[in-house]
Amino acid sequence: MLKKYRYDGSKKFRSKKESTKETSLCSDKETAKKKMAENNEEMDLLQQKLYAEKKEGLIVLFQAMDAAGKDGTITHVLQCLSPHGVYEAAFKVPSATELAHDYLWRIHDQVPAKGEIAIFNRSHYEDVLIGKVKELYKTQAHSDRIDLDKVIEYRYEDIRNFEEYLYRNNIRTVKIFLNVSKKEQAKRFLSRIEEPEKNWKFSASDVEEREYWDAYQEAFEDAINNTATKHSPWYVVPADHKWYMRYVVSEIILDTLKDMDPQYPVVTEERMEKFNALKERLEKEIQ
Ligand code: ATP
Ligand code: MG
Repeated sequence: MLKKYRYDGSKKFRSKKESTKETSLCSDKETAKKKMAENNEEMDLLQQKLYAEKKEGLIVLFQAMDAAGKDGTITHVLQCLSPHGVYEAAFKVPSATELAHDYLWRIHDQVPAKGEIAIFNRSHYEDVLIGKVKELYKTQAHSDRIDLDKVIEYRYEDIRNFEEYLYRNNIRTVKIFLNVSKKEQAKRFLSRIEEPEKNWKFSASDVEEREYWDAYQEAFEDAINNTATKHSPWYVVPADHKWYMRYVVSEIILDTLKDMDPQYPVVTEERMEKFNALKERLEKEIQ
């Protein structure tokens, strides 16, 4: 069902060819809500098992143009999971300390432990998105031996290797691109200006970034095509309809958790014997 949105290296993502507003997996909002409620219950149970088993961790990473609905979607995902072992890591403009280190340093610091789920609000992909579009690496401190023409290409390789390294060490990475249209983004910026309770979200620089729209689309295309792998796939989700986007995201996370197939740890016979002895003791106490 999710195959059409999934990129695992077996097909190319072409930004211009993908619709941002189709709703082919569920045509109406009410049904989507109902299905999401069912998905949430399943997700909740699987997460509890993941946390109990502590064998594998999960990163669900979100990237998008501004106003695509990243924050709302993340809030929604977090609401339907238990707070134990689930957290959000938001990656903003790097601090001086972060910039003094390699670009994956701050990312590795937020990698979940086995049993945990980390929701990444932006990520290391910023370094091949805004980093590529604005050529930030050219003005950041670097050694003379660095070939600036190869920085982005090398980062794709670093990222593939980093995610595969995590996979081999029991941490999966699932990457979600919320694909909004330029027109829909304009509408959402307008509502941030017109509706007082949304004013705080509006920033003039977001509108200025629209000048670079095509360059960002190209950067997304290149980033996705260079880092989509079987173990760490990308999903490109149509984002013009928020209700549909959230529904598809719930299907992606559920599908991933099902594939991870966590199980409650089985108690050994020896431990069970101990449990039974303790049970007798407790029962005596309440007699
Ligand atoms: P968001 O836009 O994610 O909702 P925000 O508006 O609350 O967050 P911003 O200050 O806009 O906060 O933080 C995100 C900004 O940080 C984005 O413009 C993003 O491109 C930038 N950013 C994140 N990581 C990097 C990076 N590695 N290098 C440069 N800029 C980065
Ligand atoms: Mg912002």
